[in-house]
Amino acid sequence: MSSSLVTVAYIGATILFILSLGGLSNPETSRRGNLYGIVGMTIAVLATVFGPRVMAAGIPYIVGAMVVGGAIGLYAARAVQMTQMPELVAIMHSLVGLAACLVGFASYIDTSIALTGAEKTIHEIEIYVGILIGAVTFSGSVIAFGKLSGKIGGKPLLLPARHWINLVGLVVVIWYGREFILAKDIASGMTPLIVMTVISLLFGIHMVMAIGGADMPVVVSMLNSYSGWAAAATGFMLSNDLLIVTGALVGSSGAILSYIMCRAMNRNFISVIAGGFGTGEGAPAKKAEGQPAGEVTPIGAAETAELLREAKNVIIVPGYGMAVAQAQHTVFEITKHLREKGVNVRFGIHPVAGRMPGHMNVLLAEAKVPYDIVLEMDEINADFPDTDVSMVIGANDIVNPAAQDDPTSPIAGMPVLEVWKAKTSIVMKRSMASGYAGVDNPLFYKDNNRMLFGDAKKMLDEVLGALKA
Ligand code: NDP
Repeated sequence: MSSSLVTVAYIGATILFILSLGGLSNPETSRRGNLYGIVGMTIAVLATVFGPRVMAAGIPYIVGAMVVGGAIGLYAARAVQMTQMPELVAIMHSLVGLAACLVGFASYIDTSIALTGAEKTIHEIEIYVGILIGAVTFSGSVIAFGKLSGKIGGKPLLLPARHWINLVGLVVVIWYGREFILAKDIASGMTPLIVMTVISLLFGIHMVMAIGGADMPVVVSMLNSYSGWAAAATGFMLSNDLLIVTGALVGSSGAILSYIMCRAMNRNFISVIAGGFGTGEGAPAKKAEGQPAGEVTPIGAAETAELLREAKNVIIVPGYGMAVAQAQHTVFEITKHLREKGVNVRFGIHPVAGRMPGHMNVLLAEAKVPYDIVLEMDEINADFPDTDVSMVIGANDIVNPAAQDDPTSPIAGMPVLEVWKAKTSIVMKRSMASGYAGVDNPLFYKDNNRMLFGDAKKMLDEVLGALKA
């Protein structure tokens, strides 16, 4: 394939990637968006493998690697539970970071790239910066994977003088960057490069270890952005325009998503980037001690069905527990039944409900809940006072009034769905256990709140049975 044909293919792939991102911004067009992405990536891979920069002798190796990598990817995608998706995404980001590091070292020791003067300096800066971003992404993502999968505790690790440690690390990295650029040959440049890589790896670990559990969604999205910049840096090292553009698309869209999520959780974007955020003035998230802060009023499935039947307006707020229980299909059945009886049923979706952005939207779409009754938090929050029943299904942190009322709460300032403003709120969960952020929820003890204890799927099946009876 000639280089001009490759350029045309790359432009086509770029357009498809942009269309893909556009499509993914709305549930109704997300399938099409995914398809654009798949076609774009297929064109990009074929154009690269059969382009002028890959020698024919190398193709069997590439195909072999693709078969192995593709098989692992296929297995992981099939085996992963919906609730483990953020961990999978985190570990995937780590691979992008690792690839950037490996490409960086490979292009530094590649003697066939004979550059001199300014070109040599620019190439070395690309390598240095690329490995730096790649190493931070790699180690940060591995720690994020550990935290999200529960292999590492969710509590933030706050070393004394941690900002100073980071600052000293930065100064050392800049100093060794100078040494690296001034190095006479590959052997003497290797030491600064390795020192910088180790510092970057430690920085990535330190940065994510310092982040509290409730803020992990922002970290995942931020690492997504970092992985994009790592890919763009790899594109610069390899002089591959498509990789630069694709990396920049991922990097900037990840950054925008992080910004939107920061706003949804009332976090400061700059402090996120600096690491160590979401720790409530340095205090680790306090765990609920299991001591109820008052009396709760339990309710049964039959009574719940009665309340729903009599209601004119119902808002359902799904959370992580609905995903765990895989209750979305029963939720849909109940919604269908109530709507047929003339009840106005709508859904309120918090931007960080569940364990990944869009988690609830995906589950509800899978269960065929119509998109027009699934509303964002900002669109529906003002409607709770005019609602008869708000039904919370396996959600906890996102409906916690302490975020508004208790300035000392670790989730203080996080916008929440104001379910307690409805005439009656019903919280469906198995026990009094706390949610992801590990904080007690005063909603449970409010006078107009009822607790429907049990597995969400099982309880909703009972409610549906009672509704139909
Ligand atoms: P939470 O984790 O706050 O609460 C979920 C609740 O579901 C738990 O209290 C649990 O209570 C209940 N539950 C679990 N399994 C079941 C089941 N089978 N049946 C019924 N209930 C069940 O979830 P939210 O969605 O309210 O909030 C999301 C939290 O996750 C936020 O703190 C957010 O910051 C964080 N997060 C979000 C990410 C994202 O991108 N969306 C990513 C990572 C973290 P019990 O054990 O008593 O049943």
